[in-house]
Amino acid sequence: MKAVTLLLALATFGAQANHEHEESHSHGAHEHGHGLLNFVVDGNQLMIELQAPAADLVGFEHAATTAEEKAQYAKALAQLKQPETLFGIAPAAACQLAHQEIKAPQPEEDHEGHDHDAAHDEDHANHDHDADHEEHEGHDHDAAHKHDGHADLGAIYTYNCTAPARLNGLTAKLFSVYPSLSKLTVQGILPSGQTAAELTPTANTVNW
Ligand SMILES: [Zn+2]
Repeated sequence: MKAVTLLLALATFGAQANHEHEESHSHGAHEHGHGLLNFVVDGNQLMIELQAPAADLVGFEHAATTAEEKAQYAKALAQLKQPETLFGIAPAAACQLAHQEIKAPQPEEDHEGHDHDAAHDEDHANHDHDADHEEHEGHDHDAAHKHDGHADLGAIYTYNCTAPARLNGLTAKLFSVYPSLSKLTVQGILPSGQTAAELTPTANTVNW
C-alpha cells in the first residue's frame, strides 16, 4: 500500500505544479490531446495512473444521453480495462496486473447550491433536453457547456512484478489507441528517485 501513498503524493504534486494556486476543484483546466501518466515502482509493485480528457478517451465530455453515446462511453470504459493495449511493460520484469480501478466522472454529482427548494422532484435526467429535434443533432451537443465543459477520465493499474529489477522503462502504446492524444506528461517515482518525461506518438517510451 505504500505505492498507493506515493502515487497519491505524486498526483497531488502534479496537480499543484500544473494549477499553481487555482482551486483544485476546478474542472476545465485540461488541454485536449494532453494526458497525464504517473507511475510508481515500489518493491515488486508497479502502479500506473492514467488521466486524460474524456474528449480523447471517449470522444465527448458531456454526460452520455443517447443510446449511441452510452454505447460509446461503455466502449471507452471497456478499452480502459485492457491496459495491455495501453502500456508496454518489459516482459522480463514479469509483471501481472493485480488490480485496476477506473476513475470516471460521477454523472449525478450533487452540486452545492442545488435548487432543493423546488419541492417537486423533477426528473433531472430529462432536464432541459431539446435534443428531440433530430434535424439539429450536431448543434445540440453544445449543451455540454452547461456543465462547465470539461471532464477527465482515467484509471489506476497495479501490477505485481516477479523481477522488478528488470523493469527499466514504460511504453505508452495508448497513442495508437487514442489518435487524438498527442502528448503525455509523465512523472514517475522509482527506487532510485523521481523521473519525468513528455511522451508523444513518435517518442512514446520513458526509460530509466
Ligand atoms: Zn475538455
